[in-house]
Amino acid sequence: MHPFKYIRTEDAASAIAKHTEAEKTQFIAGGTNLVDRIRRDVFHPDVLIDINKFPYHKIEEHQGGLRLGALVSNSDTADHKAVKKNYPIVSEAILLGATDQLRNKATNGGNLMQRTRCSYYMSPKFPCNKREPGSGCAAIHGHNRILSILGTSENCIASFPSDMCASLTALEAKVNIMDIDGSEIVIPIEEFHALPGDTPEIDNVLKPGQLITSIDLPASTKTFAKRSTYLKVRDRHSYAFALVSVAAAVTMEAGVITDARMAFGSIAPKPWRDKEAEKMFIGQAPSKALFKKIGEKVVENAKGYGGNSFKIELVPRVVTRAFSEITGLI
Ligand SMILES: Cc1cc2nc3c(=O)[nH]c(=O)nc-3n(C[C@H](O)[C@H](O)[C@H](O)COP(=O)(O)OP(=O)(O)OC[C@H]3O[C@@H](n4cnc5c(N)ncnc54)[C@H](O)[C@@H]3O)c2cc1C
Repeated sequence: MHPFKYIRTEDAASAIAKHTEAEKTQFIAGGTNLVDRIRRDVFHPDVLIDINKFPYHKIEEHQGGLRLGALVSNSDTADHKAVKKNYPIVSEAILLGATDQLRNKATNGGNLMQRTRCSYYMSPKFPCNKREPGSGCAAIHGHNRILSILGTSENCIASFPSDMCASLTALEAKVNIMDIDGSEIVIPIEEFHALPGDTPEIDNVLKPGQLITSIDLPASTKTFAKRSTYLKVRDRHSYAFALVSVAAAVTMEAGVITDARMAFGSIAPKPWRDKEAEKMFIGQAPSKALFKKIGEKVVENAKGYGGNSFKIELVPRVVTRAFSEITGLI
């Protein structure tokens, strides 16, 4: 048993100030990831600051797009009329994750901050550079079926498992953050999560005390609502993290693709977008051969570690199926 202090307050500014007082302080929102890690002995906080009374519980129109409050539940986000109409892949991605009960508790801010499901990270018996820097990576030669094939380093091959974040990346969402001095910072979602390099313990750019207040879905990517899908391939049909997932979206005119977005989940330590591969769609008529070639481009620098090497072949198949569906080939 590791005792910790629990603070519940309505005042975001004082909570942020308190966050920097003790070393292992964490905000707690839905608790679905944090409490899981505490129970499994993966993380021992000194202080938990409950942020559920903060005023970030709304979804509202913002500059022609939508602002998703950080404390809105994943369920309410997926079910929101304007999300379903204008950004349907966000709704689809959320609904393909976890379970009803978890989604009812899980929040949008917490979803961005969830940690890897690598079984070595989640088991304190094993070395893991993400959990304990310098201890080694048991996954590289171990059971790595769900782990990364892109963006890895010799220190860590963990994958980032969020479905919602893959859809937010395809739609070029922005993350709004309150800084320690109360000022606002805006970070494109693509720049929010980090690759492991030499510091696998760092998952994202958020510094201690910084608080996610909302996520903006821009007006500019509403155009993808008509032709988009979230395809998730997993070992079980429900209640399983992705092996490979893709948020896929295109616009078309006169039988030709005019714009495309593609962001993957569970193949890299962050939601994975390949802008060079996206360019290959533009000006082309849809065909399975084209989509396969684009999928192969995405994995041209991929590296398998045995148990997860099948993902290199799976990615082009997932791309082919998702884009064939939204362009009317199947
Ligand atoms: C069994 C299980 C299955 C799951 N399956 C899936 C799945 O298939 N797909 C998927 O995408 N996800 C899945 N999840 C993950 C789930 O979506 C996340 O656990 C959830 O979104 C986290 O949100 P939360 O509010 O509960 O976060 P918490 O657990 O409260 O917090 C998680 C982290 O985020 C930080 N945090 C929370 N809110 C903020 C904020 N506003 N600002 C700064 N930091 C913050 C906390 O300090 C903590 O470090 C699953 C989870 C479980 C337990």
